[in-house]
Amino acid sequence: MISQEFEFHAPKQLGEALKLLQRYGDEAKVLAGGMSLVPLMTLGLLQPKVVVSFNHIRELDYVSEDKAMLRIGAMTRHATVKSDALIARYCPLLSEAASYVGDVQVRHRGTIGGSLAHADPAADYPPVMLAVGAQFKLQSASGERIVKAADFLKGLMQTDLRAGELLTEIQIPKLGEGSGTSYQRLHRVEGNFAIVNAAAVIEKGFKGARIGLGGVGGSAVLVDVSKRMAKGLSEEALRGVSDDAYAASHDAYGDLNGDADYRRAMARVYAQRVIKAAAGKVG
Ligand SMILES: Cc1cc2nc3c(=O)[nH]c(=O)nc-3n(C[C@H](O)[C@H](O)[C@H](O)COP(=O)(O)OP(=O)(O)OC[C@H]3O[C@@H](n4cnc5c(N)ncnc54)[C@H](O)[C@@H]3O)c2cc1C
Repeated sequence: MISQEFEFHAPKQLGEALKLLQRYGDEAKVLAGGMSLVPLMTLGLLQPKVVVSFNHIRELDYVSEDKAMLRIGAMTRHATVKSDALIARYCPLLSEAASYVGDVQVRHRGTIGGSLAHADPAADYPPVMLAVGAQFKLQSASGERIVKAADFLKGLMQTDLRAGELLTEIQIPKLGEGSGTSYQRLHRVEGNFAIVNAAAVIEKGFKGARIGLGGVGGSAVLVDVSKRMAKGLSEEALRGVSDDAYAASHDAYGDLNGDADYRRAMARVYAQRVIKAAAGKVG
């Protein structure tokens, strides 16, 4: 039960929502799928004076494409991310990641924008966003800006969002034909958050290779392994990838699922697994 009283708004237009957030600033919280916000409010860890629901703003629920980019509205639910044909074609990595998020109920309520704004260190999307070089559209009543995923994710549940600003669109460069990708995660129980997760992208002809790693610090980290993989897959390349993943995980934390050393060791293992799987798909 949420014991704290709050004012509730459910605008139907984005413009209306932006004005509300401008009016209330830090006092307002956006309600997207509510999968993270509602538990925090129930536990009394968050007590916003104003809640602005986005659930009636249809213009934020879409997947579209242009020549270079996939564009995903912030209110697109995980279930849609998992099953959408455009995403499957141009960013299969993201469909794979969405299939792991929580359970069926969580996937039908939770949204991609809510997950990224919440910035859980072990969430499924951040490593993907880093590996594919995504960027985000942030809008406020006074304008908009585009921020790279690497600059947006600032640390443990910290993002570059300012008061009155919303994440409205996720923009993902279309992966070219011949590129190889893989997303894999370590978890103890199906439907639980990952302990460590990894996403790899290798461009056609091994022209570039990147890994996004999650669960190894306050936020996901990007590991550029282009030089390691420039000549294709080999034992030597894999050892280099493993070392780079280990080095990039220096801020790993410990919790009930494993200590920092375990997470760093798993970063080695999962970086190798995703790069091997991605290399097998490169044209
Ligand atoms: C049982 C359970 C299991 C889960 N398992 C996983 C898992 O395995 N992997 C995983 O990645 N996640 C998991 N999640 C989290 C899930 O992905 C949530 O959907 C996500 O964290 C929050 O998304 P939401 O749309 O529900 O956002 P909300 O809970 O509504 O909001 C979360 C936060 O983001 C803010 N916010 C929301 N939308 C925006 C926006 N567009 N712009 C700015 N701020 C915004 C809110 O104000 C709030 O602070 C799980 C959740 C539950 C309850």
